[in-house]
This record gives sequence, structure tokens and C-alpha cells, in this order.
Amino acid sequence: MWTNYVDISKLIDYCQKFILEAHIQIQIIKAIDQMQQEAKRLLQTGKAIAFVPTMGYLHEGHLALMREGRKHGDTLIISIFVNPTQFGPAEDFQAYPRDLDRDVRLAESVGVDIIFAPEADAIYDKAYQTYVDLEILPLHLCGPLRPRHFRGVATVVTKLFNIVKPQAAIFGEKDYQQLVIIRRMVRDLNFDIRIIGVPIVREPDGLAMSSRNTYLSEDERRSALSLFQALQQAQKSLAQGMRDARQLISEASEMIRSYPYTKIDYVALCDPETLEDVDRVEGPTLMALAVWVGKTRLIDNAILKP
Ligand code: AMP
Repeated sequence: MWTNYVDISKLIDYCQKFILEAHIQIQIIKAIDQMQQEAKRLLQTGKAIAFVPTMGYLHEGHLALMREGRKHGDTLIISIFVNPTQFGPAEDFQAYPRDLDRDVRLAESVGVDIIFAPEADAIYDKAYQTYVDLEILPLHLCGPLRPRHFRGVATVVTKLFNIVKPQAAIFGEKDYQQLVIIRRMVRDLNFDIRIIGVPIVREPDGLAMSSRNTYLSEDERRSALSLFQALQQAQKSLAQGMRDARQLISEASEMIRSYPYTKIDYVALCDPETLEDVDRVEGPTLMALAVWVGKTRLIDNAILKP
């Protein structure tokens, strides 16, 4: 009789735990030490952590990374952190869109377990002085136009890896140079983390999704399509036999300039791994674009295949 009682109470406990877990809501962690302890606890219980770093104001592009993340770990953690060290003094750090409540709902809809959303002064205290910098990859594309941007990115990703302790981390090909830099950094510094790249998610008309698209007026939104049009034009010309990089770049640039409000930062054709410029397109080649549309700087890219 007594043993029966124990069994039933155990069963009730188990059922309660099951019901509780089924209704567990997404966890929001702001403190670094709490995130580290939770990561340690998860690892001790044998749970693999998949991680998606973001600056928030989530859209379908971010959600694609999270859906991919679900496949690579038992626990899916995302970070929402607008990282001050990757913005230049004249850039949009203050204006960058933020909406945590909306982000929580979206993250919940794709099965995120934990959102790590630290405060900037906790990540960088007053005496902060350590940075991760790569020597060569940041000399290309966005690097010269955004000095210290990739130093800020590499530093914050390193810190987030140390805090969240993932076995896999997911990044978008939308920020192609960033993805190449993170892959190199992970190899150089022996992080035991698998880096997974996810293709660019686009609006139905082809515009690459970006939190910064919210800055665009209706007219600018129409001009923003010029980036995708230029990439498509280049792929078409390549298919018709054009191989000369200068010619392809000039054609793509003309396409962009034919739209109002546009100002080109660069149109480049480069090696997808080293990011070095190519003269001729003979194998898979990265076409990368950075274009101002009004006061909004947009980037896009595609791997062109002859
Ligand atoms: P962000 O919040 O802009 O820093 O982006 C966080 C991550 O989402 C980065 O790895 C981006 O490359 C990725 N991402 C942003 N937009 C897109 C997109 N349209 N398609 C795929 N990945 C994206």
C-alpha cells in the first residue's frame, strides 16, 4: 500500500513537470553571469546549444537563421544586442530600430528557448580594452568604408561565444564579409564551434530583408530594388558570355545609378573566400554591393556562376 502511494506521488510529480515544461515560455536573460551559468547547466545535462546572434528588430531573414538553428542543437539561444563597437561615430547606432516585445513574440513563434539581451555597459565596462582584429579580410569591401566595424563584430561575437558557449552558430550570407570573417576567426582562434551560413532571405520583389529597410520612404523603397536588379543583370550578362569584371561592374553600376536617390559605395567582384578582386569571372565569384539609398546604406550580394 505504502509503495503504491510513493509510485502515485511520483507519477503526479512527473505529470506536473511534463505539463509545466509544455507551457514553459521563452526565457529572457539580461545578466551575463546568469547566461553563463545557464549555458554551463545545459552543457552539463548534455544539451547541445545552437546560437543565433542578432541586433534585434527581427524579420524573416533572422527567423530563417533560427529555424536552421533548431536543427543544430537541443537548446536554441539567440542574442539581441545592438553592438556599439561596430558602429562608426557618424553611423546609426542611436537610430537603429529596437522593439524587444515584438522580437520576443517572433522568436517564440520559431521555438527559441532563450533570448540573451544584455545591456551595453555590461558587455563593455568603463575600463574595457580588449579587441579581436583580423589582418586582411577587413581590408576589402565594407572594411575601408567602415573603419573598425569588423573589429567590433569579431570582438562582440567572441564575447558572445564565451558567454553562450554554443556548439553551433548560425549567420546569414546577407552579411557575406562578416560570415567569411567569423569563419576565419573561428579557425584562427580554435573555437570549437560549427559556423553555419544561411542564404539571403528576400522580399517577394527581391529586396534583401534588413532591419534598416524600415528607414526607407516609399520612393526610396522602389530605388532599393536596384541592388537586386544589378545582381540579376550581372548574372544574365555572365550567362551571355561576359567575363570581364570591369565590364560587369560597370553595367551593374549603371543599373543602380539609373534609379533615383542611389549613391554607390562599391560594386565589387571578388573571390568568395579571400574577398580579393578578380579581373575575370572564371568560377563562382562573389558580386558584393553597398549602396546608399537616401540616408540608408544597403548591402547585398550573390555568388555569380558562369
Ligand atoms: P543583424 O541583426 O542585422 O546583425 O543580423 C543578424 C544575423 O541575421 C546576421 O547573421 C545576418 O547576416 C542575418 N541576416 C540579416 N538579414 C538577413 C537576410 N535577409 N537573410 C539572411 N540572413 C540575414
